[in-house]
Amino acid sequence: MEEESLASESSLNNSAKSEKRILIPREEIPWFPTIDYEKCTGCLTCVRIDKETGHDVFEVEGNTPRPVVKNPFSCVVGCQTCAKMCPNNAITFPSIDELRKILKELRLKYSQ
Ligand code: SF4
Repeated sequence: MEEESLASESSLNNSAKSEKRILIPREEIPWFPTIDYEKCTGCLTCVRIDKETGHDVFEVEGNTPRPVVKNPFSCVVGCQTCAKMCPNNAITFPSIDELRKILKELRLKYSQ
């Protein structure tokens, strides 16, 4: 199972720094792009960036250039590069505040 380290707690103990890492399965974190096909013009900028970075989140579907989110959980948590590069604002993510809230809940769940 692919896991992602999302939280750490640091404390100083006798001058030695210790760190507790919490592993949360990536599939539990609802962070991935959503494409609004009313806005998407099929320029494939998102797909090009995805291939350049090697994340493999998108693929092109059908004969017409249409990006689809093939591997949502390959998306790097917190990254919004494809949305920022889309010339038509066709890609959205949850808000950072929503992400923080979800991560806080998951940290509690997986630290027990
Ligand atoms: S960058 Fe935006 S407009 Fe271009 S293919 Fe991707 S979603 Fe569509």
